[in-house]
Amino acid sequence: MEAGVEELATVGQEFSGDLGFGGCSASERTKLTTAGDLAWDVLNDSDLARCLSNHALSGANGKSAETIVYGMRNGYTTYVECSDTGTVSAPYDIIGETTKMSHDYIATRDTEELAATLLHLVAHNQGYRHPESSDSAEHQYTVPEQIEACTLSILDDDYESNMDIGAVPKAHGGFTGGLQQSALTGLAGAEAGEPYEDICPTGTFVGAAIGTWDGTGINSLGISCRNADGTGSVYTSPRRGDGAGNALSSSCPTGKLLVGLSGQADDDIERLRGVCLSASDLRYDPGNEDSKSFTPLEGVDQGLAMSRRCPAGQAVKGIKTYSADHGLYGFALQCERVAHTNEQISEDFNRVGRKVGEERLDRCPRTTVMKGLFGRSGYELDRIGGTCVQVFDQGDSVEMVGTDVAVVAGRGGPTGGEAWAAEQCGGGQALVGLEVYSEDRVNSIRGLCADVSDWSGDAPSPIVTAKPWHGDNHGDLHQRKCSRGYFLSGWRTWVDKHNGTSRVFGLDPICIQPER
Ligand SMILES: [Zn+2]
Repeated sequence: MEAGVEELATVGQEFSGDLGFGGCSASERTKLTTAGDLAWDVLNDSDLARCLSNHALSGANGKSAETIVYGMRNGYTTYVECSDTGTVSAPYDIIGETTKMSHDYIATRDTEELAATLLHLVAHNQGYRHPESSDSAEHQYTVPEQIEACTLSILDDDYESNMDIGAVPKAHGGFTGGLQQSALTGLAGAEAGEPYEDICPTGTFVGAAIGTWDGTGINSLGISCRNADGTGSVYTSPRRGDGAGNALSSSCPTGKLLVGLSGQADDDIERLRGVCLSASDLRYDPGNEDSKSFTPLEGVDQGLAMSRRCPAGQAVKGIKTYSADHGLYGFALQCERVAHTNEQISEDFNRVGRKVGEERLDRCPRTTVMKGLFGRSGYELDRIGGTCVQVFDQGDSVEMVGTDVAVVAGRGGPTGGEAWAAEQCGGGQALVGLEVYSEDRVNSIRGLCADVSDWSGDAPSPIVTAKPWHGDNHGDLHQRKCSRGYFLSGWRTWVDKHNGTSRVFGLDPICIQPER
């Protein structure tokens, strides 16, 4: 890990400025050279990582937005082959970048679009895939698609450069769960070690990041919760990671709440400071930044600059950490609207399959529940993800109000089995459970849908509809159905390789009772 730190600390690699060409006409070379220069500018613009960090990234291989952009800077396209066939393509995971575009594609795109396409293809060169069919909900959230969308947004100048507040207009997916009430920021640092989630109790928000740091960086991280008006001390979570070192002094002044963490990170968290806003501004004047203040910057000056901020009107409600006994690798912030302080209760099930391989915890942004599944499967389940929607509008009667969709990023192999498209429950419905065939691994899966009003109300026996099976039905059948009033909102998964491809070995669904 130390060598990685050194490498990542060197930002801004030299680029020759020259693309190599094969089979391209003089006018194509001119157009592509202009596009290549534009793409290089975007790649060196800090807005790109900021844009990506506020969006769901599927198939990111556990890397943060900053690390992805850094890798692409070092692997910028140097060779474009112009051809008669196909549209565009690029080999996965190669050293020495190479992309292919058809004459027709080049002729019918402007230079901004070609720049965005180039970066999409370089992302493929860097090993990021679309592990599903293009009609899957996951597709638009994959790294190459999001990079393309952010690039166009930045080049078209409709990227909102003050990413401290607000969303990116043209990027896919909206804020990770841009669903009015809650959001989950992108990962900072890296996904490694064990996942933890710490959430403030009902009606309270994070007022301070707690943890420890020393000359090697941030060693541990947790949260301390206060009332929604920024007073009191209600709950303090465990510090996840290594408790050694100096105590972090990331406590917001009284009357304020934590709305973000910024600092530096690479494959672990090096340096942090808290961003605080007045609780009354958050509640009554969302977007007003006049009361913004920072806690001291602590840790070490190495790694890539990063910032994770909640959307306007939202404060940090909880934190998802990736850590081990010897340190902290990464985190993401769970944000929630301050004017929204109702209760949310979780219900955990028993696992199906086995606890083998990497454990991950993936949940819809708070207050949202799952409406659909996507994945890959053959004889066994290779990959699984889900789409999330908001079900209740605060203060309103029981109904489905989600107008935007967030995803629980896919887990498992990018190649095994066949991809299947997202299967959404019908209008007014959400997922209330799963049925699974499993033995050593998860072999097949299907979703169970119910009407949100019926499932939440007193209807004597709400109709539960099963979606089609995916995978092969062998082993034992298990049903995991949420209690009445609860809906599927995520899972813990265990993923490992079997016969050369990544499979889902174990799955432990989580249901929540969404707020209303
Ligand atoms: Zn692609």
